[in-house]
Amino acid sequence: METPTPRALKIYFLPFFAQGHLIPLVQLARLVASRGQHVTIITTPSNAQLFDKTLDDDAAAGHRVRVLLIDFPAAQVGLPAGVENLVAASDNDTAFKISMAAHLIKPQVESLMKQSPPDVFIPDIMFTWSKHSANTLSVPRLVFNPISIFDVCMIHAIKENPQAFHSHSGPYHIPGLPHALTLPIKPSPGFAVLTEALLDAEEESHGVIVNSFAELDVEYTKHYENLTGRKVWHVGPSSLMVQKTVPSVKGDEHECLTWLNSKENDSVVYICFGSLSLISDKQLYEIAIGLEASGHQFLWVVHRKNKDEGNEEETWLPKGFEERMREKKRGMLIKGWAPQPLILNHGAVGGFVTHCGWNSVAEAISAGVPMITMPGFGDQYYNEKLITEVHGFGVEVGAAEWSLSPYESKKSVVSGERIEKAVRRLMDGGEGEGIRKKAKEMKHKAWKAVNEGGSSHNSLLDLIQHLKSFVP
Ligand code: UDP
Repeated sequence: METPTPRALKIYFLPFFAQGHLIPLVQLARLVASRGQHVTIITTPSNAQLFDKTLDDDAAAGHRVRVLLIDFPAAQVGLPAGVENLVAASDNDTAFKISMAAHLIKPQVESLMKQSPPDVFIPDIMFTWSKHSANTLSVPRLVFNPISIFDVCMIHAIKENPQAFHSHSGPYHIPGLPHALTLPIKPSPGFAVLTEALLDAEEESHGVIVNSFAELDVEYTKHYENLTGRKVWHVGPSSLMVQKTVPSVKGDEHECLTWLNSKENDSVVYICFGSLSLISDKQLYEIAIGLEASGHQFLWVVHRKNKDEGNEEETWLPKGFEERMREKKRGMLIKGWAPQPLILNHGAVGGFVTHCGWNSVAEAISAGVPMITMPGFGDQYYNEKLITEVHGFGVEVGAAEWSLSPYESKKSVVSGERIEKAVRRLMDGGEGEGIRKKAKEMKHKAWKAVNEGGSSHNSLLDLIQHLKSFVP
């Protein structure tokens, strides 16, 4: 452990109300606290419950992370009390209202900062109003962006070259970007408005912190720093940074892990679409068709929050699907929260059908599991490009505008046939072996990055040094 600084910095962290944003920023706060700084996380009561147990370990180690609770203005946006995180949203409308409430906490956060000004403020980028608050209160601000810098570069490039979407269907070299890529799906008007706001929120910050590691997007980091003049710190993958060991099973094993124990190495496909899971029953049906037709074994997590009205029966699955899979010991369904990091680190898992949420991608990279990409919203389309075209440790199901988004109501469906083809491409051997090898190589780079002397380890130390420069 490093020697504590003579004058500890007082830093406020403000995580956004979505699992994929909240967890990595809390992990960053804990890492900074473990290096002797005075860290406060500002959040709402229900969001605090999602991570407060992890702080016990820090307290036991003598690194105190303070949590300051603010009220969530649930009633102002027409939500029931306690629904304060996108994970708790059971439909698109609720998810949208929670996102809208991001703006409503501004007065409370400002009031806390006035009462007791921090040396530095590190909000999630989704709090786009933070630029104004930090400027008004003269508090230095760095933004936390839970995605990769590759994504941020894509967002910048697409803003500068919107016409490219109309004229290119094959690989295209967006001016300034290091690689020619097939273009992702054109951003929806809703997402375009959001990204404009995010780009604006970056402005006037002292830099951007991302939950990634330098080896994943070296060229894009240089590109971003040249383009914006802002510095980037890669301090991820955050779960590996916090716990530099393979996640281990504690207490009662989830039955899926026992099931995986009976399978051969790299023989099972794991399917999970993150914490929001606003997937239509029609799409779930097609996934089942694709998995069955692929002939491969699978472990499939289904949250089914977006049930079709009146479809309470399990008619979202093909007739007899579960019985057939059970009899042949081919497939297992988890209808609820799954221990994803443990699953991905199980040797039997040889492929991951993912919506390309950044945390899932980072967890798969950390575990060396190749991906089958099926993005459904926003930055997930860019993550797919990084996985399949920049690095080649995954295969794509194919461009599709099915929707996982709280901001859109598109309801197209990706066919089972496309899902089957992608699963076979990765799992049938041949091409899949090369892809798996690349995934394992990137895993080694990620582990190297988080350990002593590695790029993310050094970046965290450099970040803390930089923060100290704000204090006279
Ligand atoms: N997750 C999990 N079990 C589940 C579903 C999700 O542990 O059943 C975790 C997953 O490991 C990841 C996070 O939830 O850490 C999802 O974040 P991601 O950025 O992938 O997607 P989002 O939920 O933001 O769409």
